[in-house]
Amino acid sequence: MHNNTIAELAEGLTNKTFSSEELTRHYLDRIKTLDGQFNSFITITGELALAQARRADARLANGDAAPLTGIPIAHKDIFCTDGVKTSCGSKMLDNFIPPYNAKVIEQFNQAGAVILGKTNMDEFAMGSSNESSFYGAVKNPWDTRCVPGGSSGGSAAAVAALLAPAATGTDTGGSIRQPAALCGLTGLKPTYGRVSRYGMIAFASSLDQGGPMTRSAEDAALMLNVMAAFDPRDSTCIDQAVPDYSATLNDKLDGLRIGLPREYFGDGLDPEIEQAIQAAIKEFEAMGATVKEVSLPHTELSVPCYYIVAPSEASANLSRFDGVRYGYRCENPKDLQDLYTRTRAEGFGDEVKRRILVGSYALSAGYYDAYYRKAMQLRRMIKNDFMACFDEVDVIMGPTTPNPAFGLGEKTNDPVTMYLEDIYTIAVNLAGLPGMSIPAGMTGGKPVGLQLIGNYFSEARLLNIGHRYQQATDWHQQIAAAAGGEK
Ligand code: GLN
Repeated sequence: MHNNTIAELAEGLTNKTFSSEELTRHYLDRIKTLDGQFNSFITITGELALAQARRADARLANGDAAPLTGIPIAHKDIFCTDGVKTSCGSKMLDNFIPPYNAKVIEQFNQAGAVILGKTNMDEFAMGSSNESSFYGAVKNPWDTRCVPGGSSGGSAAAVAALLAPAATGTDTGGSIRQPAALCGLTGLKPTYGRVSRYGMIAFASSLDQGGPMTRSAEDAALMLNVMAAFDPRDSTCIDQAVPDYSATLNDKLDGLRIGLPREYFGDGLDPEIEQAIQAAIKEFEAMGATVKEVSLPHTELSVPCYYIVAPSEASANLSRFDGVRYGYRCENPKDLQDLYTRTRAEGFGDEVKRRILVGSYALSAGYYDAYYRKAMQLRRMIKNDFMACFDEVDVIMGPTTPNPAFGLGEKTNDPVTMYLEDIYTIAVNLAGLPGMSIPAGMTGGKPVGLQLIGNYFSEARLLNIGHRYQQATDWHQQIAAAAGGEK
């Protein structure tokens, strides 16, 4: 069963080949027996999952099932779940049990999906390797000596190890696309505002966006159909009709204009990744697409720009963790000041502290103009670069990451090298555009991700392009040995 996509599992449920309860038990058993190797889950919600599965079976029997009714899904531990611990990968929230659901969780509940558990992640979604989690590093199912990418590394490892048919992730600078690339998955970061951030613990509010991590573009469409919805409780969520993302998957690619940004193929790109990307582009040409070189001249400045904007917003967002209302509180504070400082010193890990320090500095009087204002100007220029490209092409393609999955511990002592892992993904968040990574090759036994970047609200087109590619190739069907390929 675990070798199937959501689309195949939904068919099995409708045809009564198995029940949601059987399916859910199967995944829970796999998690129990296999996740010791990967550490992809922080919390497993066995009882809740089985109760939801039984309700789903009743819906299926009554004939009022939606496409995801009865399908088990894993959720990144950044989405608040009513009555279920939501840690955001941090000691600060190790004891936090939200009294409400995130909008995304409400949507999955309404659809009748089943929550398998909450997945491991970099602390407060800060990282590219899933090594900053309070719950320990996650291991990549393709090579357990390597990182799965981050910050949605637990979601990526869980789906790649076939411990869940699909998972949710969030992407502030690449955290859906990069782990999807490193684990051989399809990962979509929607347009900023497409998916509600209500109940999604904030890192950098102007960049954060939730999205699906799946084994195919077809599955990503099914997930986005549920996740994308207007929500007045998130003032940046857009009130725009949600198309049926599954309806246009098979549209033809004749005449599709692809732009290859010169800056995405330069120094620092692994030559085997470059070869795989070029081979993928040839596939699209064979399907009737045309290709031209384009330029995103501020690519190199996107990482420094992000590392002013994101930490600035993080320093403001994380000020709420003060030991007073919820979350971790230090023992025996001697006064209020001591409560604040010790709670935060003991509750946050090093990477989070680094971001808070950088952000507080960049926003402080006297430095604001030199850093934050400059970064905001640069952010506009980065957006304009993309807009100029979309005058000429329909979609931008390139590698998702400069390297395949790297070794655990390899970059932990060098934050700047770690930050450069996101060189091809970060600008997309600064511009608020949708981006997707799909598997497009292997190098040394590890997956390679092809990134597709579209104009605002072009998710349906990106999914269509991804789906057509997956009809013509089988990279997305490769399975990590550690996952066990058998049905
Ligand atoms: N790796 C980037 C960071 O550390 C992006 C993380 C993310 O997208 N959440 O901030």
